[in-house]
Amino acid sequence: MKTDTPRPIQLKDYRPPNYLIYDVNLDVSLHATRTRVRARLKIRRNLAYPGNPGPLRLDGEMIELDALRLDGRQLGPREYQRTDKELVIGDLPGDLFTLETTTYCNPEANKALTGLYLSRGIYCTQCEAQGFRRITYFLDRPDVLATYTVRIEADRNEAPVLLSNGDPLERGTLDGGKRHYAVWRDPHPKPCYLFALVGGNLASYASDFTTASGRKVDLRIYVEPGKENRCAWAMDALKRSMRWDEERFGREYDLDVFNIVAVSDFNMGAMENKGLNVFNDALILASPETATDANFAAIERVIAHEYFHNWTGNRITCRDWFQLCLKEGLTVFRDQEFCADQRSATVERIRDVRNLKAAQFPEDAGPLAHPVRPGRYIEINNFYTSTVYNKGAEVVRIIQTLLGPEGFRKGMDLYFERHDGQAATVEDFVTCFQDATGKDLEQFMTWYSQAGTPELVCQLKYDARNRTADLTIAQVLPPTPGEAKKKPLHVPVRLGLLGGNGQDIDLTLSSGKRLEDGLIEVTKRTETYRFRDVPSRPVPSLLRGFSAPVNLTISRSDADLQFLMANDSDLYNRWQAAQDYATRVLVAAVKALRAGTRPAKPQAYVTALGVTLKDESLEPGYRAQFMFLPSESDLARIIGRDVDPLAIHNARQDLRKAVGTMLYDALVDTYRRYEIKGPYSPAPEAAGRRALRNAALGYLTCRGKAEDVARVAAHFAGARNATDEVSALAMLSELRSPERAKAFDRFYRRWKDDHLVIDNWFAYQAASPLASSLATVVKLTRHPLFSMKNPNKVRALIGTFAMANSVSFNRPDGRGYEFVADRVLEIDAFNPQVAARLLSAFRSWKALETERRRLAKKTLQRIASATPLSHDVQEIVGKMLE
Ligand SMILES: [Zn+2]
Repeated sequence: MKTDTPRPIQLKDYRPPNYLIYDVNLDVSLHATRTRVRARLKIRRNLAYPGNPGPLRLDGEMIELDALRLDGRQLGPREYQRTDKELVIGDLPGDLFTLETTTYCNPEANKALTGLYLSRGIYCTQCEAQGFRRITYFLDRPDVLATYTVRIEADRNEAPVLLSNGDPLERGTLDGGKRHYAVWRDPHPKPCYLFALVGGNLASYASDFTTASGRKVDLRIYVEPGKENRCAWAMDALKRSMRWDEERFGREYDLDVFNIVAVSDFNMGAMENKGLNVFNDALILASPETATDANFAAIERVIAHEYFHNWTGNRITCRDWFQLCLKEGLTVFRDQEFCADQRSATVERIRDVRNLKAAQFPEDAGPLAHPVRPGRYIEINNFYTSTVYNKGAEVVRIIQTLLGPEGFRKGMDLYFERHDGQAATVEDFVTCFQDATGKDLEQFMTWYSQAGTPELVCQLKYDARNRTADLTIAQVLPPTPGEAKKKPLHVPVRLGLLGGNGQDIDLTLSSGKRLEDGLIEVTKRTETYRFRDVPSRPVPSLLRGFSAPVNLTISRSDADLQFLMANDSDLYNRWQAAQDYATRVLVAAVKALRAGTRPAKPQAYVTALGVTLKDESLEPGYRAQFMFLPSESDLARIIGRDVDPLAIHNARQDLRKAVGTMLYDALVDTYRRYEIKGPYSPAPEAAGRRALRNAALGYLTCRGKAEDVARVAAHFAGARNATDEVSALAMLSELRSPERAKAFDRFYRRWKDDHLVIDNWFAYQAASPLASSLATVVKLTRHPLFSMKNPNKVRALIGTFAMANSVSFNRPDGRGYEFVADRVLEIDAFNPQVAARLLSAFRSWKALETERRRLAKKTLQRIASATPLSHDVQEIVGKMLE
């Protein structure tokens, strides 16, 4: 905890390390309050460091130094300096030496959940980004790569399972069997953020996998005893990921064992430590009764993501933390491609874009905007953002779109070949694609350095006499904090022109060049493309498959949007047309509500939606996506200024009711026909049917008539899987009906002993738009099953209230802001990462209408002036108020 003013770290100040640690030997004796760590570090001078290397400065925080030896000689207190952040040794014996330290740390007291800590009796570590320095003194930076040998010793009853990175080497007992030890060896040099250690009473679910070259790998997932029967899905996803990375990218696994451990207290989703992934147990444990389809899909995605890091992140790591997108953007892209292959590619693409627009676009449009590769930070933990991850993935996707799948694979092959075993940069990565294909990617690099979402303003002019269509595209690059002027970007735009019969017209430019794949590359601020031989006025379908992370503006009539919803051969854009149409209807309704006038009837939009709902040629999961209206936060972002969250909520609810009423027969029919009779399957087809059926039920429930309440209550009571049960609970949470309380009571009684499933009970009370929800949430913070120290609970209750309950968070009296601010300050005292994340709920405050904006500002100023305040929270609140 600091009260000082933190200094930003800048990319342009990067220097290679003056020393390198190339081999690490750790001996860890686990103890709840006093764990002893003996480290033997082999160190050499880094010849790549320019000039005199100076003293050795090792990072270390929250650890107690007991002994220090240099080349076997005990150092006296005058031979080194120590602060609360580092250990400095000035007099070194030469260019090559061995440093031995003995330190102590306190896992039980560690509630920041970084470094070594205890989670429900399990010792575990989290070292990314800078947690290793809380375990031992070290050069804690990603460009210091070492091999590791780790001996762990513990009480045998307390920690019968002892794990670390790499392969197991040796194990044995001590003290007549009371204590025991295990030795692990990781031969692959890695940065210390990939170090992991686990000790505890864990049960395991085992399987194996044979790689393409015939190496047999033992796979094991470790969980709380009694939960082994909930690991089958995660294991299945792991094996499919291993196979897929071999087939798609030619990447094989490289150790004899691959272990995953699930723990209950975890700041993020999961961590890709070499050979020993540590997961938030919410992303491992699944059974039909306890996990929803969304949970199953998330488990598959995150298992794949962490596994894929073995090559993109671990074998090739980042030179410095500014390059975080090099591993994260690329690995998110890889997990997206995996899911697209395993599931419906269109539904997955829609899902990815929805996420991007919900999480990243508001970031780009607000005070926290930063480039995919930021140029400066105060606290790196604040940069595990949607911009680095999701926009980072879109930027990699742009490379694939520009080069085509084959060119992309060639570039990836070269990247693996050239940089294996290295700590690389974004430039290293992009250069591989240039070298492999000859494509000029210089202008493309701007995607990494420029913040903000570009807008493509498009115009189509048809000349009937000459049968030409002129498409003009202008790039508008809105300013972001600290960056007023922007350069034009290299933007791939995939497009089609639809003729009167709904078919795609052949795309031939006036130069005679045919666009076989419908792809144009926009590089200038304004460009015009002339298409010839266009028989009639076409309807443009632009940015097919969301070929770049931009906003698109083009004037289109309602009839054009209906036409695209019914005809576009690109299913992604067909969905996008429906979203654009719904947005148009909703934005007009918000305006009307605020002006006190009656919104126009949404008849035409609802009719067009009904056509898709009934279109049996489209898969149910896709139709379900069609049925989901833009979210309240999507609408707030699109409206952009003077935002009234209540008017948005009411307009959206009115439209939902209108859909429920106007499409009543079709919705009832869908609800009846898509019921699945047999046992539960998490397969995408079955999940898609459930999604469509629950979407239909949601609209019917909105009508709020007695028969509708009875229908959803029966759905809840008769649910045979978590998806149906939790969906119905969510729908009931919005109703003022005795059935609501009954359902929450029943859910509580059924699931109070399951620490994961019960999070739904917290979340759907926190998400309810009813006026009472703030009082309910305040009361729930004192519930015996709630804990401010457990990040999952904080996310379920406080996070849901702040991020997914726009009406209650943005209460006109400002009490929603006050409540969240108090929790941010409370949590900041022991877990700055989680506090800073929660604070980002305020990221769009400047777009609010006057009164709410005033209240939000007052609240943020209160946070800013509180002491003590972590660097994490200081940085975020400072940017918000800038
Ligand atoms: Zn990752």
